[in-house]
Amino acid sequence: MYRLVITEKEKELIFFNKEQSHYLKRVLRLKKGDRFIAMDGLGKSWLAEIVTERQGKIVEPLLISTELPIKITLIVALPKGNGFDEIVRSCTELGVTTFIPAIADRTIIKPSPQKLLRWQKIATEAAEQSERQIVPQITNSDKFTTVLEKLGDRETDCYICVARSDSNSLLECLENNKSKHLIVATGPEGGFTAKEVENAIAAGFEPVSLGNRILRAITAPIAVTSLIAAVAEKNITTLDR
Ligand code: SAH
Repeated sequence: MYRLVITEKEKELIFFNKEQSHYLKRVLRLKKGDRFIAMDGLGKSWLAEIVTERQGKIVEPLLISTELPIKITLIVALPKGNGFDEIVRSCTELGVTTFIPAIADRTIIKPSPQKLLRWQKIATEAAEQSERQIVPQITNSDKFTTVLEKLGDRETDCYICVARSDSNSLLECLENNKSKHLIVATGPEGGFTAKEVENAIAAGFEPVSLGNRILRAITAPIAVTSLIAAVAEKNITTLDR
């Protein structure tokens, strides 16, 4: 059944924007009475049906949970070109909650303001496609040091991925961790500078390894998210959720 992240809802009524209305009618060819799943992108979803070209109505709430039992915030030093598109798409499918795009010392690109809208659109489509209940948040990009400062004092466990180091593996750290929210930072193609790693450690981040191979800036966040999701869902049955 088609999933749609809705933007406007009033009690039982759903209002489609122009783009949605076009998609539902012309592309999916849905007609009055046809059913779809409406999501608010914040965790709620409903079985809904088409009323008119511009309106739908809620039939009943859906109670199935597809979200991970843990929140994941990724601080990603932006890779070159459109590399972050792939990170947003894949990591949304895998279950990330928040993306913080960061400009590290060795980051090459300067993201334009339109990029954020593009990334949010990719996250929305990936959330619909992967049957998630929330659409991950993507913050404005900031310098990596500013991101560290803005995190301030926190309870959350934070990790920074460092290639070619003798740090503990992320898996080992996760196996001893019971937190419900993790923050993980990954670097750009050229890696984090020693100073950046030092600053992160001073801000409470633990350096971790993802293995003996060097992953690309695009692969590292995907590997991180897969690992966290696998550990978080291990031994969890739907009854525990
Ligand atoms: N050019 C750098 C590697 C950059 S890889 C070098 O030669 O050292 C891009 C980012 O992915 C790194 O900054 C790191 O955050 C992450 N990464 C890649 N492979 C990793 C590994 N084996 N362990 C931990 N982090 C890794």
